[in-house]
Amino acid sequence: MSDPAAPDLKQEIAHNLAVVRGRIDAAARAVGCNPADVTLIAVSKTQPIERIRAALEAGHRCFGENRVQEAQSRWPALRAEFPGIELHMIGHLQTNKAAEAVALFDVIQTVDRPKLARLLAQEMAKQSRRPRCFVEVNTGEEPQKGGVAPGAAEGLVRQCAAEFGLDVRGLMCIPPAEDNPAPHFALLADLAKRCGLAGVSMGMSADYEIAVRLGATHVRVGTAIFGARPGLQ
Ligand SMILES: *Cc1c(COP(=O)(O)O)cnc(C)c1O
Repeated sequence: MSDPAAPDLKQEIAHNLAVVRGRIDAAARAVGCNPADVTLIAVSKTQPIERIRAALEAGHRCFGENRVQEAQSRWPALRAEFPGIELHMIGHLQTNKAAEAVALFDVIQTVDRPKLARLLAQEMAKQSRRPRCFVEVNTGEEPQKGGVAPGAAEGLVRQCAAEFGLDVRGLMCIPPAEDNPAPHFALLADLAKRCGLAGVSMGMSADYEIAVRLGATHVRVGTAIFGARPGLQ
């Protein structure tokens, strides 16, 4: 067990969590949604462990990571110490990391191709674990980005459920950084509805309130909670 977070750091992170949560709740109420239906995923990728620990000590339990290896290096120990943690994989998932992802995460938000879906299903059978899944949609149709094209999303969702037996709960997107996110959020919410999926994962530090107003059920917020990330990304 490492030392508890310093009191001032704990206070800072607890404050940030409360501010973000308050804004989510207000945005949900403004459009007649129940704030309790919006999950705040604290994105802890590349953050120093003391900051994550501060969030845990403040009572937060839902976190997002974008790299299997980094997540593996710290979450098993934290899980042993803080019960009730829910961990979301929100980064591009390589097929050679499928086994580890199934073992570690409670929710895999970046299912975006049949090959990956098939591998995840095989691993789930092997490990007798069944993490919930989201299908990632490349709403901006950016060639360098992961995610299925919007026009192919419904087909992939059906295939994931029917052919591979995945527990698909929703859709996820990361709009192009330079775009107004609102049309992307509206598209994702609409696609989810058409697929009959309740889950809609969208919105980050800069735009989570807009996302909630447009129907997000999961927002992924990093820097607004933990502060600027050290290093790139
Ligand atoms: C890093 C990341 C976030 C959080 O970004 P912030 O701007 O720090 O809130 C959300 N979603 C994904 C997929 C990310 O990689």
